[in-house]
Amino acid sequence: MTRARVLLLNPALGPLDYRVPHGMAVEPGSIVLAPLGPRQMTGVVWEEDRLEAESVGDNRLRPLLQAYDLPPLEAPLRRLIEWTSDYYLAPIASVLRMALASASALDGSRTVTEYRATGLVPERLTPQRAQALERIGERQGLVRELALAAGVSDGVIRGLVKAGAIEAVDVALDDPFPLPDADHAPPELELAQGAAAHELVEAVRAGAFVPFLLDGVTGSGKTEVYFEAVAEALRRGRQVLVLLPEIALTEPFLKRFAARFGHEPVAWHSGLRQSQRRRAWRAIATGQAKVVVGARSALFLPYPELGLIVVDEAHETSFKQEDGVQYHARDVAVMRAKLEGFPIVLASATPAIETRQMAEIGVYRHIRLPDRYGAAELPEIAALDLLADPPPRGAWLAPTLVKSLAETLARGEQALLFLNRRGYAPLTLCRHCGHRFQCPNCTAWMVEHRLVHRLACHHCGHVMPPPRLCPECEEEDSLVAVGPGVERIGDEVKALFPEARTAIVTSDTIWSPAKAAEFVGRMEAGEIDIVIGTQLVTKGYHFPNLTLVGVVDADLGLQGGDLRAAERSFQQIAQVAGRAGRGEKPGRVLVQTHDPDARVIAALVSGDAESFYDAETEARREAAMPPFGRLAGIVVSSEDAAEAAETARLIGRGAPKVENMAVFGPAPAPLAMLRGRHRQRLLVHAARSLDVQDVIRDWLGKLAWPRGVRVTVDVDPYSFL
Ligand code: ADP
Ligand code: ZN
Repeated sequence: MTRARVLLLNPALGPLDYRVPHGMAVEPGSIVLAPLGPRQMTGVVWEEDRLEAESVGDNRLRPLLQAYDLPPLEAPLRRLIEWTSDYYLAPIASVLRMALASASALDGSRTVTEYRATGLVPERLTPQRAQALERIGERQGLVRELALAAGVSDGVIRGLVKAGAIEAVDVALDDPFPLPDADHAPPELELAQGAAAHELVEAVRAGAFVPFLLDGVTGSGKTEVYFEAVAEALRRGRQVLVLLPEIALTEPFLKRFAARFGHEPVAWHSGLRQSQRRRAWRAIATGQAKVVVGARSALFLPYPELGLIVVDEAHETSFKQEDGVQYHARDVAVMRAKLEGFPIVLASATPAIETRQMAEIGVYRHIRLPDRYGAAELPEIAALDLLADPPPRGAWLAPTLVKSLAETLARGEQALLFLNRRGYAPLTLCRHCGHRFQCPNCTAWMVEHRLVHRLACHHCGHVMPPPRLCPECEEEDSLVAVGPGVERIGDEVKALFPEARTAIVTSDTIWSPAKAAEFVGRMEAGEIDIVIGTQLVTKGYHFPNLTLVGVVDADLGLQGGDLRAAERSFQQIAQVAGRAGRGEKPGRVLVQTHDPDARVIAALVSGDAESFYDAETEARREAAMPPFGRLAGIVVSSEDAAEAAETARLIGRGAPKVENMAVFGPAPAPLAMLRGRHRQRLLVHAARSLDVQDVIRDWLGKLAWPRGVRVTVDVDPYSFL
């Protein structure tokens, strides 16, 4: 090649052509460094016939600066990047960025210098230095990473290095990862498990695209079953990607994997240090890393030998990314398997309606595991009618639930209380004048977090100390907390059972894989009696001594009901119920509700998931909602309310008249203000057969709006806020 079309890592730029200097060899997929004005930028060589660029004569082309010594991105990955960009209406460079997710990985050096505490206390111990050393603890990382973790400037860290309290360590970046051993400790599978595993193993052996829905009740051994497919991929020298919905689940997964395969897999998530990220990226790109477990961002990495993807807890909506490229990792994963030609397993006890429907029409192969492994039985679920069995005034736990908690504690077993609300109380108001504390940047209440003594906005992160006076009427000590969050339930539990050891588990307390591991360790060691947690504890965990689950407010998930509210509510309660009775002792689940006859609750109590799903599916079919129709959200935002409204109207007026498509709105979004930006929404509803992306591209492409206005399109939206 003497000319190369290059896709640079800048979403604002289109592809550009460059001259390939003499002696440099590149091909489509090569990762290169290119000049851009006075700067340099990384990019990837692309096929000329797949991306249009402004035509420039040979003599005016600037030469490429460097071709990195890394394997080129393979053609199927380039097709996946194009597909994702087209389908989600996202700049292709933004998608490419997710593949080249470690800038430092491109640099060929083999070691990096990191820093860690020596344990020595410096002679001059300023408050800043003390804070830094305390927060750094056992942590290791670049100066910048330690400074960030400690909340101090780089200078403080450097000062501590000079004072001998922090030392430099050389970290080798290219050390290979140990290879998991397919035959290290295989379990003895039960009959149904064995049959399921056999089907998956055969598919890995055949090496062709087959999508599976591995649909097994909680505790049925889905992980053990798909591990057999992982083992087969390993025997064939292929790479495997396991996607998890939450980084908090990574650590327990690594341990479990190591018990089965002798070594941990390679982890990929946002909590990695730069050097870990770099090492993982290079090992993945060269095919050395065989099994990768990660959050959704692991999906676009350049695995050269991928032979299997598993999406665990595939129904989880956290696989949908809500900022940047708004893609759904489950759906893109299926596309990747298709383009590269290998099987994919979507594992879930409560599959999404979209996924069930694909199985129903025979596109996905449906494998069922109807029973729990071994002697474990599914827990008995009962509804607690809050009208008939009300909690005392100012409390939230019904007498029946309290009694069950007492019995569970008396037996030395563990209990879990689930409430999907972080903090102490969702609303604070002045009892004197009725003033409510709202976020200055968002249409949202400030949520009291008593453990850290502040009010916080869960949308933008704005925080303030809890005020002594009402800012409106200046009355003192007049503020009251309204409604419960997990912290308040924690207080109630402590008042009822002062001896019980409790733990609050939310993203505030479990903010890193290490914290999650610590929690799991304490649960397993029996150091916790009652867990009070948000959705973070509903998935994946296996605690054999946990026998009681209480759902504090089963009606919460149905509020503000969007398309998936009932389904999500069902999944969440079924999943949290699935944490009970996973060992030899039977489990019990008590679901507090004001409406025990609601369909969701009735289905959970009767255990009749099928008829609930069938009814939901029929309702979607009748309304032509996904998966029977398509939706796309268009969000218009600006710091200027009038400008946002004006642009939204302009877009509304510009809506093309297309058969099988309707446009609703614009209307102010339910979250009418977010991070100081006013928001308007439109919703596009179309038939499945319509290429709605094409229509939207055309439609928005013809319009122009002021610079401060942002217009984002959310294809297959999960959030309607
Ligand atoms: P699921 O993912 O379906 O909820 P798991 O794979 O976590 O279920 O299995 C539940 C528990 O049962 C785990 O502790 C697992 O190790 C154990 N288990 C499942 N199948 C087997 C088996 N065939 N042999 C030994 N232990 C098993
Ligand atoms: Zn806010």
